[in-house]
Amino acid sequence: MPQTKILLDENEIPSHWYNVVADMPSPPAPPLGPDGKPVGPDALAAIFPEALIEQEVSTERWIPIPEQVREIYRLWRPAPLYRAHRLEEALGTPARIYYKYEGVSPAGSHKPNTAVAQAYYNRQAGIKRLTTETGAGQWGSSLALAGQLFGLEVRVYMVRVSYEQKPFRRSMMHTWGAEVLASPSERTEAGRRILAGDPDSPGSLGIAISEAVQEAASRDDTNYALGSVLNHVLLHQTIIGQEAKRQFEKIGEYPDAIFAPCGGGSNFGGVAFPFLADKAAGREIRLVAVEPTSCPTLTKGHYAYDFGDAIGMTPLLLMYTLGHDFVPPGIHAGGLRYHGDSALVSQLHHEGLVEAVAVPQLATFEAGVRFARSEGILPAPESNHAICAVIEEALRCKESGESRVLFFNLSGHGHFDMAAYDSFFAGELEDFDYPEEAIEESLARLPKVG
Ligand SMILES: *Cc1c(COP(=O)(O)O)cnc(C)c1O
Repeated sequence: MPQTKILLDENEIPSHWYNVVADMPSPPAPPLGPDGKPVGPDALAAIFPEALIEQEVSTERWIPIPEQVREIYRLWRPAPLYRAHRLEEALGTPARIYYKYEGVSPAGSHKPNTAVAQAYYNRQAGIKRLTTETGAGQWGSSLALAGQLFGLEVRVYMVRVSYEQKPFRRSMMHTWGAEVLASPSERTEAGRRILAGDPDSPGSLGIAISEAVQEAASRDDTNYALGSVLNHVLLHQTIIGQEAKRQFEKIGEYPDAIFAPCGGGSNFGGVAFPFLADKAAGREIRLVAVEPTSCPTLTKGHYAYDFGDAIGMTPLLLMYTLGHDFVPPGIHAGGLRYHGDSALVSQLHHEGLVEAVAVPQLATFEAGVRFARSEGILPAPESNHAICAVIEEALRCKESGESRVLFFNLSGHGHFDMAAYDSFFAGELEDFDYPEEAIEESLARLPKVG
């Protein structure tokens, strides 16, 4: 019987992060300022420490992981690689299915991989406080944990609907010592502006980002931390794919296709980029980003310069976007409701190195329940998107009799998302139609460049 869990020792935690920019066919498109001219790294200095800005624009292939960060990684890393024997059997597929389980971190997802690194560099730079936004609460709890470990105060602007629907994510952040505010709030100019237009605004990630950035920009002792999208965030997450490569080496396997849920692109980039190095060198491997049909950024968005936030405070990034003021339907995979995507993932998709598929909400929960009933682990609604795509692929292998190696990132557990599973079992979940009109309207308001 081949192994079920493929484990590494603590001394096998990678010593460097991998920077995909070194292996991309063309250099990344620069962020632009309001005047349409490329912004220099110094434009980011009001809200990010220098070390992270350097990583944001670095072209070096390998970037050393500080010893203090690796020490904290030891609390839960290396993360296990599983062979999904029982799921394979339940599906009757000749495919061999593997998954990397990131739910073993204290916050229950991959997000602490970057939260810890970001807190470390801010602490080194003498920063005392961090602000951030959170949707479903995964990122807010990860930064609360990291802030606590490095002695930083953390204030989290939490999208109002989630603030009300996910009280236990809030409790987690409080336990790790963070302050949590419902966004839009009265604390910032950005929040007051939104509330003036819509006092009952449910909030959105874009709005919460505006609030957190505005506060960080207005105080010298305070910086901002982002949980996805930016190059340095994807860089930190490459620890996932690097560990997975070693784990596959140990058992003499190599994936034919990699799947990961894609919101801002950080766990997808984290698991896929280290394999893209091999693909760039000619090896055949499919890299598939999986998104919701209700927020189909890579599959239906435009490849264009757009703002990262709702009210246009950030530099313009060249990415797939649905329009910065598009508010997606309230699906339960809160981490996948972002209007844009990582510029690196977007460019690689545009250049044909990365594929994307969109899956509807009900099918993702069906897949998640099927997974939980065979493998035991109860996945986050975001992770269910990857599981859904993998099951479809495994069933295609069954039809064709091909014994492919399928690998996906199980980005987190769903222990704080049980209300979503309850709604699914009660038959209350819907598939939202692709919100074409809302997207068209929003895309008509893309900023004009050049
Ligand atoms: C936040 C989150 C995601 C989506 O974010 P990415 O930056 O695209 O990785 C996916 N899965 C889980 C469990 C998350 O918490």
